[in-house]
Amino acid sequence: MTSNTSKTEREIKMRECLQCGTCCKKGGPSFHLEDKILIDKGIIPSKYIYTIRKGERSYDNVKECFLPASSDILKLKGQKGSWTCVFFNETNNNCTIYEHRPMECKVLKCWDTIEIEKIYAKNRLTRQDLISSVEGLWELVEGHQERCSYDILKFFIDSLHTDKKDEALKGILEIIEYDIKIRELVVQKSGLETDLTDFLFGRPIAETIEIYGLKIKEEKGKYVLIPTG
Ligand code: SF4
Repeated sequence: MTSNTSKTEREIKMRECLQCGTCCKKGGPSFHLEDKILIDKGIIPSKYIYTIRKGERSYDNVKECFLPASSDILKLKGQKGSWTCVFFNETNNNCTIYEHRPMECKVLKCWDTIEIEKIYAKNRLTRQDLISSVEGLWELVEGHQERCSYDILKFFIDSLHTDKKDEALKGILEIIEYDIKIRELVVQKSGLETDLTDFLFGRPIAETIEIYGLKIKEEKGKYVLIPTG
């Protein structure tokens, strides 16, 4: 009897959230159109969001491999350089915006991923959905996307192994320098918080370039690329 009860309890537990926090410690959710209201209302401030830009290689949790993003993917940041979601309270082991948590958090069941797999790549929220009406700012974001697109970056990276190596190197460094400068300028001139730049312009290319086996170093005021193997 006791052992039967324990078995039943175990089976029930496998079909409900134990609020252990494991999911929240593996990284924040991606946003969908249904979550726009949370950002519009300021429940989730934009400074807690980062953008994986179109074409950027990132880990696809459903396909379990690195793939280029087919559109913007907006995600909640982690806290203190870890993957733990910025809204997770480590002390109480709970979500500080539980009533207003994004759709992926509501749908995710760690014991059954069918529901999350169905919605994962659908109705992704993009920067355009959120800021295309902000005059001046959206033009800056579009200009950056045009100049620093991952398609162009990837073209130059692939060209490093051809006789166009010097041009490719120059092209990559120009993209990285522009990406760094635009962030500094926007913060200096407009007074926006530095934390917002990961949302506006995506993750800094000086960091994401490592996914492509390259690293950037500053030497005497100039940037140089180093292969990481
Ligand atoms: S928003 Fe809440 S439920 Fe979702 S990952 Fe963050 S802490 Fe967890």
